This record gives sequence, C-alpha cells and structure tokens, in this order.
Amino acid sequence: MERFDVLVIGTGSGMIVASTAVENGFKTAVVDSGPMGGTCLNKGCVPSKMLIYPSDVVAIFNEAQALAQAGGHKLEESYIVRHIAAEHQEDGNLDKALAGFERSLTLREQIGYKVYQPAALLAIGHVYRARQKLDQAIEYYQKAYNLAEQMNQALYVVRLQMAMGDAEKEKRNIHQALKHYETALRTAEAINYQNGLEAATAKIEAIDREL
Ligand SMILES: Cc1cc2nc3c(=O)[nH]c(=O)nc-3n(C[C@H](O)[C@H](O)[C@H](O)COP(=O)(O)OP(=O)(O)OC[C@H]3O[C@@H](n4cnc5c(N)ncnc54)[C@H](O)[C@@H]3O)c2cc1C
Repeated sequence: MERFDVLVIGTGSGMIVASTAVENGFKTAVVDSGPMGGTCLNKGCVPSKMLIYPSDVVAIFNEAQALAQAGGHKLEESYIVRHIAAEHQEDGNLDKALAGFERSLTLREQIGYKVYQPAALLAIGHVYRARQKLDQAIEYYQKAYNLAEQMNQALYVVRLQMAMGDAEKEKRNIHQALKHYETALRTAEAINYQNGLEAATAKIEAIDREL
C-alpha cells in the first residue's frame, strides 16, 4: 500500500494545505468526493461573478432603455441600445448584436444625428465580418467611411481604413488591403495618431513579408 505523510480531504482551500505540505517535503495526497477546486472555483465565487456581473449589466441597460423610450429620448436610447448590442457582440450573440446596432442607427437617422453614425455602421460591419460576410462588412465600412470623411472624423477614417484593409485581406485581395492600410497610415501621420500609425505600419509590414 502506498504511504503518505499528509492526507488532505477536500480540494478547496485544502489545496493551500496540500501545497504547503509539498513545499515542506511531505509526501502528500489529496482526495475529493466532488470536482477538483472546491466550491469557489466550481460553483461559488468564480462562476457566480461570471454570471451575476453580466446579468446585472444587461438588467441596468434594459432599465435605462425603457426609461429613455418612455421619455422619448431617442439619442439616449440609441446609446443604450448600442451598448447592449456591444455586450451581445462580446458574448457572441451576433443576431442580437446586429439587431441592436441597426436599431441604434435607425434612432440616430430618425433624429438626423450624424455624429455617431459611423460608429454604428462600423459595428454593423464588424458583425458581418465575424460572420465571414465580407462583402456586406466592406459595404458598411465604406458607408461609415464616407460619413466619417464628410464630418472630418479623422480617427474614424483611420479605423475604417484599417477595417476595410482587414476585410479585403480576409478576401485575399492583398493589393486592395495594402491600399487601405496605406491610406490609414497617411491619415494617422497627418493627425499624429500614434496608435493608428503603429497599427497600420505593422499591417503593411506583414503584407510586405507575404508578398
Ligand atoms: C455562490 C457563492 C459565491 C461565493 N462568492 C465568494 C466570494 O466572492 N468571495 C469569497 O471569499 N467567498 C465566496 N464564497 C465562499 C467560498 O466559496 C467558500 O468560503 C470557500 O469555497 C470555502 O472553502 P472550503 O475549502 O472551506 O470549502 P470548499 O471550497 O467547499 O471545499 C470543500 C471540498 O471538500 C470536498 N469534500 C466535502 N466532503 C468530502 C468528503 N467526505 N470526502 C472528500 N471530499 C469532500 C468537496 O467536494 C469540496 O471540493 C462563495 C460561495 C458561494 C456558494
């Protein structure tokens, strides 16, 4: 029969006892009648935080949306809808994300509020791209780009050129992608946007290595 110096029953905080015993040179065994890790890892602190926090966030947004709707505040509602959509996008619920981004766009169009339309269009493009619908993604990026240009939103111009470059690259239209990255680079240089500059340079260098 195998013999041990220390036997730890339970792998929750018991693992601290076990690792201390091992560090001090004791031959140590652990036993557990349930899953490894105890309550905290399997059904306590970690899972509850992972479930409770996102559901609290969604509940708060839903309540805020209802309030904005009730007061007829379309701009506020469009922000809230967009945030909810972004949460859905992060969770991989692309249908709900798309519906939310489209709703936020419609609300902005209804009140003729153009400033943040490129953001909504960009987000819709990202959803299509996540679904590998690259032509539709590019179509939305292009619409967003046109608006951003009209409104001199240079940061968005950089982001949209990068996004169009990525989508073209995914379509294997490498030369087209390169053109977008170069436009992004020039725009980033013109406005001294360091992050955009670095990102575009990295993309161009990656293409140069490929060609
Ligand atoms: C929903 C929830 C959320 C929580 N959130 C937090 C938090 O945010 N922060 C915080 O500090 N604490 C939190 N806790 C409390 C925390 O999970 C516990 O305090 C901690 O897990 C207790 O550790 P423990 O080692 O005493 O017990 P456990 O982690 O429960 O470990 C006991 C282990 O012993 C095993 N076992 C039991 N009987 C036997 C047997 N006869 N033979 C073999 N194995 C056996 C069990 O299967 C289990 O794996 C939360 C608890 C819950 C339920």
